[in-house]
Amino acid sequence: METIKIECESCDGTGIYKGMCEKDGSAVVCIKCQGTGMIEFNYTPFTERKLRTDVKRVYSNTMTYVISDEDFTTKEGVTIHMSQFGASYEDWLNGKKPIPIKELVCPYYWSDQEFKWKLCNDLLGGCYYNCPHYADKDACWFQFEQNEKKKELKKVQEYKRKYAKKEP
Ligand SMILES: [Zn+2]
Repeated sequence: METIKIECESCDGTGIYKGMCEKDGSAVVCIKCQGTGMIEFNYTPFTERKLRTDVKRVYSNTMTYVISDEDFTTKEGVTIHMSQFGASYEDWLNGKKPIPIKELVCPYYWSDQEFKWKLCNDLLGGCYYNCPHYADKDACWFQFEQNEKKKELKKVQEYKRKYAKKEP
């Protein structure tokens, strides 16, 4: 643990505080820094990513469900095959992107509404699980993946273009 001196955020480093009660030319001594304007900040410098021994799989989001790395059944009686989603801890450490938990939610909800295609219009502002296509969300995930591939390809092309410009 190391310590550095940082500016007190409450008083902007002035050591005095002026709010609603301190009228005209008055101010009070800042209680956060006791008037010094400075806070001692304790921190641990980063050296390398540490490992955990209690984790087997990594997911990118729980979507507010309680998750496990083992298969489980939802309140609605649907079995979620968790071992097929996410990424093994080892793969994730090596840079693999976790696979979305496709049995749990649709891509519209997963992507925080960033992904949308024609079938999503049938949602009409309703909740994603009320979507008439929710039971067939595999088709939506397929579309999502096609989109991701396109985005990836575009990134590669942009990179190539950028790189080509720098050539003499
Ligand atoms: Zn202060």
